[in-house]
Amino acid sequence: MSPLDLFRERAAALDAADPLAPWRDEFVLDPDVVAYLDGNSLGRLPRRTQERLARFVREEWGGRLIRGWSEGWVDLPVEVGDAVGALVGAGPGQTVVADSTSVCLAKALHAAVGLAPGRSRLLVNAADFPTDRYLARRVAVDRGLELVEMSPSDPSGLNADDVTAALDDRTAVVLLSHVDYRTGSLLDLEEVTARVHAAGAVVVWDLCHSVGVVPTGLDAAGVDLAVGCTYKYLNGGPGAPAFLYAAARHLPSLDQPLPGWWSADDLFAMADEYRPASDARRMLTGTPQVAGLLAVQEGAALAAEAGIEEAREKSEQLTAFAIEVLDALRLEVVTPRDPARRGSHVTVRLPDARGVTERLTARGVVPDFREPDLLRLGLAPLTTSFAELLTGLEILAEVLGE
Ligand SMILES: *Cc1c(COP(=O)(O)O)cnc(C)c1O
Repeated sequence: MSPLDLFRERAAALDAADPLAPWRDEFVLDPDVVAYLDGNSLGRLPRRTQERLARFVREEWGGRLIRGWSEGWVDLPVEVGDAVGALVGAGPGQTVVADSTSVCLAKALHAAVGLAPGRSRLLVNAADFPTDRYLARRVAVDRGLELVEMSPSDPSGLNADDVTAALDDRTAVVLLSHVDYRTGSLLDLEEVTARVHAAGAVVVWDLCHSVGVVPTGLDAAGVDLAVGCTYKYLNGGPGAPAFLYAAARHLPSLDQPLPGWWSADDLFAMADEYRPASDARRMLTGTPQVAGLLAVQEGAALAAEAGIEEAREKSEQLTAFAIEVLDALRLEVVTPRDPARRGSHVTVRLPDARGVTERLTARGVVPDFREPDLLRLGLAPLTTSFAELLTGLEILAEVLGE
């Protein structure tokens, strides 16, 4: 008898009571993957997207060719932007879907610096995702700001007090990830935004690991700018375009560093002089990636239909169940135990996390590994079942026992 046998019945009961369980059938499920625990790096493929893209290739690209632009493609960055915006509490006209998260973040950071004249510091989490740190450093150099790296006081990740301690009247911009990509720790977006604003600074949120799984009220919190991924919990597919939000109050004067014909007031005027659009298109640069946008449109529609509040509830149950089982295996969980303080992944510290990840993958369990010793289990409420999660953890126990 395995030490985890007792959890099998619980997993079955949790699945039976799960209102989101039927959504799993909306996704392509490859039988070779017995437990997919990496939906926070690349979400599963929705069946509707498979069909939508096949139709796009056959009928729209193949049949309509250049006419497709005036038949709807041209509006996709803003239209899909509004759909993604609705998932993060942004009213229409403030979000576009375009480029990669990294490029959107570069635009957002430069724009944010422009909103904080007379201030001299750019704050970043010293433990943030590499792209966020690299860009913050570069933007600080380019804009003549001092980069301040905030260190988390707690091994589970940066908290609101760490941010407050770094704020003063020199702070221009604060870049923060809503959910820590390593530990899964979640910041209170509303509270932290209020603290940044109280210090007279501008905040840029990176929502990569929270969009689709954590209810977020960008407008209600008065957030200045935000960016995020669409290929993680929004299931937009590898390299799907990212989103960029700029509050309506900033848009008319927003100065972004990569103006192109798509951010011009009149796209087809081909004017000598650049006149930026005063709406959300102001944040665009060049021709958008239509296939990717259509995939994001499908993914965002699925998330909206299932409901973000419902996704959050299941996500809390999934992470709680994972932590309970990991505790039974006596493993070191680095993710916060308070559900209000974590996103939708659970991270374990293991001496040979890389080797364990390889052995798990060979057995059809797909987690992911983060340097140097972290095994990350991404739990996607629309696709991860409790039984699937338990199967993954049982195989983890076997691999560790070998
Ligand atoms: C996944 C992720 C990114 C990815 O950026 P790309 O430009 O899409 O490669 C950026 N920031 C954070 C916090 C992430 O988790």
